[in-house]
Amino acid sequence: MTEAVCSRAGCRADAQWRIDWRNPRIHDASRRKTWVACDEHAPFLRDYLSSRGFPVEVARLREPAAQ
Ligand SMILES: [Zn+2]
Repeated sequence: MTEAVCSRAGCRADAQWRIDWRNPRIHDASRRKTWVACDEHAPFLRDYLSSRGFPVEVARLREPAAQ
């Protein structure tokens, strides 16, 4: 499994979240872009996209390790 690193510029933290989004002006309804984000930046990236009016979904990148 490849390591996923946060999509936020300058951040090298391990990503914990995936953010699926699209730009309705350039992507048709079946297209999705995926960013990944660390705990700190997932809300920032989600808000950035939603403030531009883009459909956005945030989900855990992987299941938490079993305890
Ligand atoms: Zn980050």
